Amino acid sequence: MFTMGIDIGSTSSKAAIMEDGSKIVASCVIPFGTGTSGPQRVIEDVLQAADMNRDNIDYIVATGYGRRSIPGADEQISEITCHARGVHFLLPSTRTIIDIGGQDVKVIRVDENGAVMNFVMNEKCAAGTGRFLEVMARVLECKVDELSMLSNQAKQAVPISSTCTVFAESEVISQLAAGNSREDVVAGIHDSVARRVASLGKRVGLVPDVVMTGGVAQNEGVVKAMRQELKTEIKTSPLPQLTGAIGAALLAYQKVQKAKQAND
Ligand code: ADP
Repeated sequence: MFTMGIDIGSTSSKAAIMEDGSKIVASCVIPFGTGTSGPQRVIEDVLQAADMNRDNIDYIVATGYGRRSIPGADEQISEITCHARGVHFLLPSTRTIIDIGGQDVKVIRVDENGAVMNFVMNEKCAAGTGRFLEVMARVLECKVDELSMLSNQAKQAVPISSTCTVFAESEVISQLAAGNSREDVVAGIHDSVARRVASLGKRVGLVPDVVMTGGVAQNEGVVKAMRQELKTEIKTSPLPQLTGAIGAALLAYQKVQKAKQAND
């Protein structure tokens, strides 16, 4: 049986096709989120990668911020439930998930079965999110995927005290104008993200294993800053940006199985 999970975020669209709730057959990430061509493209691309068409898929679960805008989906499930399930599949020892996406940060406590126990989310503010890092990358004239490499070369992080994205952007411009290196400024930006996310995480308690998911988990500089800030080991999901889509595909499988059992 084949199921598909689609995770439509504010910044990117992700999809995974799974076989029998145990094997990832194909996956795809498109760097365009809800309200763009991203959702349609990610479905087409993942089907193509699996050499399948819609008729080969038994059930589709959509998740993420834009989950209600996917007409072909059989069901919508919240990204919190999907992330919890996805992480449980990828790293079953996970008890706390730190998910940093394009416009939100979530810290989710999960039990040994991957069920959600509690969670917190950032308020409607870009501080500590992928968007914050994108704005800073633009000022620093680099790509978000270069930030980690830059912070790795830092000699001493330049403190960035503003959490507000707009004020922090001005602060970064001033620090660069004052002669600080890009590397040291990026390290300061990562520390700022870590402080912001840590304060959120402390509200639900950070029980090990702590695992980072979402696009920002690909930034090793942020992961390192989080480890220092929280003074705890932090693992990263092996497929960080796909965690929600994988969880959605797994929940889709569970739905079909349950329906089958009910009919038997
Ligand atoms: P959403 O689900 O909200 O659309 P994602 O979980 O896909 O968000 O994360 C998007 C964010 O991930 C971007 O804003 C960007 O900061 C970050 N990101 C994406 N790709 C990379 C990469 N290769 N390296 C570092 N950061 C990345």
